[in-house]
Amino acid sequence: MAKRDYYEVLGVSKGASEAEIKKAYRQLAIKYHPDKNPDDTSAEDKFKEAAEAYEILSDPEKKARYDQFGHAGMGGGFGGGGGGGMNMDDIFSNFGDIFGQAFGGGGRSGGSRRVKGSNLRIKVKLNLEEIAFGVTKKVKVFKMVNAEGVSYDTCGTCKGSGQIRRVQQTILGAMQTATTCHVCNGAGKSVKSKPKDADANGQKREEELIEINIPAGVGEGMTLNVSGKGNAGPFGGVPGDLLVQIEEEEHATLKRDGINLYHDLYINFADAALGASVEVPLVKGKAQIKIDAGTQSGKILRLKGKGLPEVNGYGHGDLLVNINVWTPQKLNSEEKELLEKLRTAEHFQPAPGSKDKSFFHRVREMFS
Ligand SMILES: [Zn+2]
Repeated sequence: MAKRDYYEVLGVSKGASEAEIKKAYRQLAIKYHPDKNPDDTSAEDKFKEAAEAYEILSDPEKKARYDQFGHAGMGGGFGGGGGGGMNMDDIFSNFGDIFGQAFGGGGRSGGSRRVKGSNLRIKVKLNLEEIAFGVTKKVKVFKMVNAEGVSYDTCGTCKGSGQIRRVQQTILGAMQTATTCHVCNGAGKSVKSKPKDADANGQKREEELIEINIPAGVGEGMTLNVSGKGNAGPFGGVPGDLLVQIEEEEHATLKRDGINLYHDLYINFADAALGASVEVPLVKGKAQIKIDAGTQSGKILRLKGKGLPEVNGYGHGDLLVNINVWTPQKLNSEEKELLEKLRTAEHFQPAPGSKDKSFFHRVREMFS
């Protein structure tokens, strides 16, 4: 199932302001709220879809990544299946306040919030073939999980509300302020009993094998977001995200520049003068290309579509083959004799015409 564009989901334009995005999401969230649409799974899907779109578009960093790379930049398709990574609990804990008074405040859960686990960061190294075609990587991560056998109590400091309220007398009268409870970080719970190897939050570090679907076309330094695969939220809260930073292995004979690839091809004198059929490496396999008779050094051949795919799925780069005519560096007497004869031969004298483009023109042409 193709994922809908986030702007389309919320019904806003790309230039929409933060306030417009929030307003659009609020209207959809109220329209498709599960309390209003009991047992209606299509409403629930719409509710989740809108929340996912809002999660991205309301976060300047995620929005910028989405604008640049589309769904691929968000790790679209992670964890398989459509629908994205948000469940109802995520939505109410992250955006519950958007409903305001529409549903008696706080969406569903009200009171204490579910504490989100921290994000985990890992690096994944990819070779050119993995980048060109996309790859599923299995990686081991050490992450915090809620230990088995841990039990919780209501936090004694905030009495489970997750907040500490204070009434202050001001010249305008009594004013109430609420701050997040510093003891439970807003969870409203404390650890009652826990296994020996768990920490004060009832968590311990465990190894997990995670499968990451990496889309084709990613590049060095790009970060993919795998929702919900970070550290578990303490006190049964929502997990953080796994942030996967891409590293690129250098290829032996193909150099990358964005979506295009470059290859330096060396041919000998005779092949350049007489024409030839030669092999060039591709990301996968090889291609046979034709060198025309009379090819000059510095000529660039373009193999259309043999570069890398655009990470957003639209468009494909080319492979540019830079031809270098190899001048022999060592000659035996027979070779010397042959070349001496050719030194003064009629067609061996350089005679560049208007069709022989200068280095400057070739570079300009390559980038046009
Ligand atoms: Zn507390």
